[in-house]
Amino acid sequence: MHAVNTIGTTVLGYPRIGPNRELKKALEAYWAGAGTEDDLLATGQRLRAQTWTALRDQGLGSIPSNMVSHYDHMLDTAALFGALPERFTRLGLSPLDTYFAAARGVPDAPALEMTKWFDTNYHYLVPELGPDTQFTLTGTAPVDEVREARTLGITPRPVLVGPVTFLLLAKSTTPGFAPLELLDALLPAYVELLAQLRDEGVEWVQLDEPAFAADRTTAELNALTRAYHVLAKEKRRPRLLVAGYFGGLGRALGVLARSPIEALAVDLVTDPSFVDAVAAEGALRDKEVLAGVVDGRNVWRTDPGVALARAARLVGTAAQVSIATSCSLLHVPYDVQAETGLDPRLKNWLAFARQKVDEVVLLGAALRGEDVDLGPARTAVADRAASLPDPAIRARVAALRPSDAVRAPYAERVAAQQEALALPPLPTTTIGSFPQTAEVRQARAAHRAGKLDDAGYQRAMRTEIDRAVRLQENLGLDVLVHGEPERNDMVQYFAEQLTGFAATAHGWVQSYGSRCVRPPILFGDVARPAPMTVGWTQYAQSRTERPVKGMLTGPVTILAWSFVRDDQPLADTARQVALAIRDEVADLEAAGIRIIQVDEPALRELLPLHARDHEEYFGWAVPAFRLATSGVAAATQIHTHMCYSEFGDVLPAIDALDADVTSIEAARSTMDVLAGLDGFARAVGPGVYDIHSPRVPSQEEMTGLARKALAAVPADRLWLNPDCGLKTRRYAEVEPALRHLAGTARLLRAEIR
Ligand code: GLN
Ligand code: ZN
Repeated sequence: MHAVNTIGTTVLGYPRIGPNRELKKALEAYWAGAGTEDDLLATGQRLRAQTWTALRDQGLGSIPSNMVSHYDHMLDTAALFGALPERFTRLGLSPLDTYFAAARGVPDAPALEMTKWFDTNYHYLVPELGPDTQFTLTGTAPVDEVREARTLGITPRPVLVGPVTFLLLAKSTTPGFAPLELLDALLPAYVELLAQLRDEGVEWVQLDEPAFAADRTTAELNALTRAYHVLAKEKRRPRLLVAGYFGGLGRALGVLARSPIEALAVDLVTDPSFVDAVAAEGALRDKEVLAGVVDGRNVWRTDPGVALARAARLVGTAAQVSIATSCSLLHVPYDVQAETGLDPRLKNWLAFARQKVDEVVLLGAALRGEDVDLGPARTAVADRAASLPDPAIRARVAALRPSDAVRAPYAERVAAQQEALALPPLPTTTIGSFPQTAEVRQARAAHRAGKLDDAGYQRAMRTEIDRAVRLQENLGLDVLVHGEPERNDMVQYFAEQLTGFAATAHGWVQSYGSRCVRPPILFGDVARPAPMTVGWTQYAQSRTERPVKGMLTGPVTILAWSFVRDDQPLADTARQVALAIRDEVADLEAAGIRIIQVDEPALRELLPLHARDHEEYFGWAVPAFRLATSGVAAATQIHTHMCYSEFGDVLPAIDALDADVTSIEAARSTMDVLAGLDGFARAVGPGVYDIHSPRVPSQEEMTGLARKALAAVPADRLWLNPDCGLKTRRYAEVEPALRHLAGTARLLRAEIR
């Protein structure tokens, strides 16, 4: 056992949606009025108890609490400190319903904005803070959970979002005001909470400060110094563990090392070289350091040799070195043992949350010099390393030349495409998906379950394609789509048809709120054995004279939304995926499809947190897209699509993709993005229809947005389209909205002639 007063082996967080998505079901039942508040709370309590007892029984040294959220941990923090915007608190709802109003919106109070949690695919709700925001400890969840855990004989370690990260991720309600100015107003609420936790017998509390894995200013580092001096100087408090993850801590390492906290958790996986900085940091001598050597974000078994070597480098640097995960396990599924359908060899290479806890415990014992059996882990890692590469794929990648990622000059393409397509000015199109109706979902599920044969499935999908094509023709849209009824998900659909990918049955990971995704596992060399989309697209094209746009997911997005192999640079994997997509592009072109869209909505998501790493990222991400799309003739038009509003950092990269047409989300942010578009040399389609809301915008509204766009983009390079795909909308909304889109185009065309 470890000495008293130390944390010992631990994980920084755990999945919370339930091994069978119990919390998702309870939440959705509550929202639908089919379950009571008590049912929902009981589900959370059951899941917590399950997790805590499992972690204890697995032998973990310290057990985290305050992890089960009813929606999101940033929103929890805002609610905990009484900092929800007034538009929700004045509704007169119960605390729980006020919380859900902030998460999901109600008719008169739009929800808080949602955005990506660092470079993960988890989304958090952005707190809104202004100069008048007051913080008071109003929530009791962290304290209540401690009491709950103690009835099980467990004294947990509550996990909180750290005060500085909380403020840095919040959004200012007032121009010229930075939420960080609220630090001194916020700290007393934390002090009060820490005192209450101490009174409950809590020994350690974990404060997460992942914001310091990104570039930070001196003022922000000074805020970090101040925060932990203020919190630490209180007598009535648990010991403080600060966790920095999703990368190395840069200058924040020294700041935290010199602060009077008792322990620091470091991520030694994302940037393995960070271990050198930690080992060289003299000021850690009186602290416990949690060496995050078990990857909290990916699904591979840990190589015990590598992990122990990293942790051992720190022995002597700190008063105590313990083993931990690199970050919360929120980002991986629960248990690989539930995957009975996986190939046993692949399964043996994998570790989900439950297995990672075992790894942490085992590595912790090994680091303490106990006699443990690392044999099975070593064998599994060696077996994975010995799996054979596919020589044909390797040879093809090796033979690539720079010219493979270069198309004809843009001017030449424009002329050839105009001749081939003869589109009117301000062409109209959509982003790909049409409403996923109940019939579509049922047909896909029945086919998957073997209850609907291939012919029946084909008929059902063709009926749906006919419906979408007919609607687009009737409305007079210029570039049509088949509507993507056959796609469950824009990455999974492709992963299921590519070699080198495996799908899980229960590998759900929370994306936001009750929404979960099941990322495919990219484990081997990737190739495309057969066409994946050609049949559906060709069928749609056979039903209309107008051009039908082929619809593919780009290599960067496929990587971003999968668990990727960690045994070779992402750049190498990206080239393989790009070649697979390139083959599909070629087959679409050969089948007579003249416009092909390759979506890259995750280009921004994978952007590294440190500016110094951006160039290297763009250095492979941009060529991967170009490799996927450069095999076609000048007359074939390549589109791409992105959906995020703040794309300043990626604008040069978007330009470098060299797509003929780029559609981007813009309506939701009322065309803010246009400011960045001067200097953009090719055609763009800033969205004029916010598809995230059931509201149908009027033609006047769309025309207004389109006029704004026309002021920034020359008419001969402007397209008109919605913000994103329509799959979450209903036909009753989509039909009038697209009618207004077509009407806008007609009106503006008459004006610019
Ligand atoms: N083509 C996809 C669709 O329309 C794009 C989705 C996305 O950008 N996330 O659904
Ligand atoms: Zn989109």
